[in-house]
Amino acid sequence: MPFRAPLTNHHADGTLCPADHKHTSSAKPLHPDCPGRAYTQAICSCGGWDMKQFGKGYVNECRNRHLAAHTQGPKVLRNLLRLDGS
Ligand SMILES: [Zn+2]
Ligand SMILES: [Zn+2]
Repeated sequence: MPFRAPLTNHHADGTLCPADHKHTSSAKPLHPDCPGRAYTQAICSCGGWDMKQFGKGYVNECRNRHLAAHTQGPKVLRNLLRLDGS
């Protein structure tokens, strides 16, 4: 069964910033009810991985790397964890 880790955008108070909240290229909200995107979150359905960062591109990159590790099996996952270990 494949795992999924959907990206979601959130406001500073933790509420969802839905797709119809458009922003300018400099991240200024265009929707009257939108206080602005504070962070992007991805939670993997495996239950063992999640991340929360302002940089949407970075979250997406880490998410893809994590999902790729699932498809390549536990051995690769261990290697990735060792490489990323800080
Ligand atoms: Zn919003
Ligand atoms: Zn996972």
